[in-house]
Amino acid sequence: MKYIDEFQNPDLARRLLDEIHATVTRPWALMEVCGGQTHSIIRHGIDQLLPEQVELIHGPGCPVCVTPLEVIDKALEIASRPEVIFCSFGDMLRVPGTGRDLFRVRGEGGDVRVVYSPLDALTIARQNPDRQVVFFGIGFETTAPPNAMTVYQARRLGVRNFSLLVSHVRVPPAIEAIMQSPSCRVQAFLAAGHVCSVMGVDEYPELAERHRVPIVVTGFEPLDILEGVRRTVAQLERGEHTVDNAYPRAVRPEGNQAAKAMLEDVFEVTDRSWRGIGMIPGSGWRLSPKYREYDAEHRFSVEDIRTSEPAECRSGEVLQGLLKPHECEAFGTLCTPRTPLGATMVSSEGACAAYYLYRRLDISPAPREATSVV
Ligand code: SF4
Repeated sequence: MKYIDEFQNPDLARRLLDEIHATVTRPWALMEVCGGQTHSIIRHGIDQLLPEQVELIHGPGCPVCVTPLEVIDKALEIASRPEVIFCSFGDMLRVPGTGRDLFRVRGEGGDVRVVYSPLDALTIARQNPDRQVVFFGIGFETTAPPNAMTVYQARRLGVRNFSLLVSHVRVPPAIEAIMQSPSCRVQAFLAAGHVCSVMGVDEYPELAERHRVPIVVTGFEPLDILEGVRRTVAQLERGEHTVDNAYPRAVRPEGNQAAKAMLEDVFEVTDRSWRGIGMIPGSGWRLSPKYREYDAEHRFSVEDIRTSEPAECRSGEVLQGLLKPHECEAFGTLCTPRTPLGATMVSSEGACAAYYLYRRLDISPAPREATSVV
């Protein structure tokens, strides 16, 4: 399959690995920002093929995982109302809120529907004018444009029974927060290629310069990851800290201008809490005043939400790269994909789910002998 098979070529992977091994002279800690990259790394055993000196730290770029518990609980409250059809992508249904999830709400009679596009939710709203239809709009710069487009369309078409429960987050402020943390060990970033395909790379040079960290825009297939690591390590070894685009087949420096214009029209930047991490200034989007009537939080005035996280869950440390999933005592025992304590065990981009799915169950250091990269 074009753009898949050719980026999983074992001979090319071996060549890249040889180059990385030949370049590295001392320990380096790289953070891959996106949960999709984490899954690719663990699935293909890329971390086990790299030199021992190169550590990959898993970053907070899993949209489901960082959606604050308070917002999940608001979703559960709204979805429980008899007048509401609550629409969401499927991966949010099993994310644990305080004591229940959206599956439970559906089991208790709530009208919770899985859709494959926010525009599907808008269609449902047009088909059900006597019901309130809410779409759960979460995620990074990748999912924000279609959600913005849907609200734009709802306003243009005069669909008044549609609203968006918004919890969008932005990558650059998260990188800033990670670098400002006193416990930060990250020396370079593999930036999320799909985010940059929307936003471009304009926001990164200032971050790279101020924190003196290389930021390499990286894709998701094994060769993409290895090329991102190769370029990052080369910069680190040379003492450089620039922004480099290792994913040019998808990322243009200016990003997607139409998507950015839509974001600018529909959303405005706001402070946002990240689950397990806390408040990061300027790290989110909310609907701008022009579209505020489509904000589900305003429409349903969901207040007095009291949240409670399971004490055993250390997903905040996992999301900040301070803990590997299998180092959590609940991993694989109290917490499994069937009995998740935290969102990182549920999401298809969650680090705990990746470690469980690909059987990284042992807390001893990962073996470094290569088996196969694909
Ligand atoms: S393994 Fe489960 S309990 Fe532990 S950090 Fe991950 S989600 Fe939380």
